[in-house]
Amino acid sequence: MRVDVLTIFPGIFESPLRESLLGRAVRSGILDVRVHDIRDFATDRHRQVDDEPYGGGPGMVMKPEPIFAAVESLGAGERRLIVLSPSGRRLDQALVRELASERWLVLICGRYEGIDERVVEGLPAEELSIGDYVLSGGELPALVVLEAVARLVPGVIGKEESHERDSFGEGGLLDHPHYTRPSEFRGLRVPEVLLSGNHAEVERWRREAAIEKTRRNRPDLLE
Ligand code: SAM
Repeated sequence: MRVDVLTIFPGIFESPLRESLLGRAVRSGILDVRVHDIRDFATDRHRQVDDEPYGGGPGMVMKPEPIFAAVESLGAGERRLIVLSPSGRRLDQALVRELASERWLVLICGRYEGIDERVVEGLPAEELSIGDYVLSGGELPALVVLEAVARLVPGVIGKEESHERDSFGEGGLLDHPHYTRPSEFRGLRVPEVLLSGNHAEVERWRREAAIEKTRRNRPDLLE
């Protein structure tokens, strides 16, 4: 899968794209992530990417021309253009699955008061939010999207980290609780059934524990 990221802070992506799951996916070539500095597409000598808002008010707004130029420089092809924005469609695992089936994503990161609305209207692009809160930039949201999507791209995670039983999967439940050695820690014991070696019993316990955890932490998912 190809992912182009447009940002005015390309350095933010260096370490996350080098380490762990994303790093492996990039090194193996399964993910082809290209980070572009929007400033490189500004045409004035100050490489200006923002300006004052029409109508007045505080803060600055990201200008449309460098973003259009950056997108146009990527070449033609079927791609999904996404602007990270708190006012976008909220990311969930269903949307992550949808994005993971695409071959090419373009993630556009805003800063300041946001991006000139003509970017969404004119490219056109869809707006995507990672949750009902406001961050200072679209870079962390873009990394959230990237990592969530990468987990579902075939070959990115191995069997030992399988995502099949993850929360929000087919059954719509949260994941069941997990335990590892030691079997007793500070008086807290691992549920006996998990030490029994009885796979059918373990499966039954996991299903019930997943339902119980969902009921406790996210009853809305059971409705
Ligand atoms: N004035 C905007 C508003 O109230 O909706 C907030 C702009 S925010 C300070 C700057 C940038 O951060 C946005 O353009 C967007 O790219 C990014 N951003 C902030 N919160 C986000 C969220 N929850 N999801 C996705 N992107 C977000």
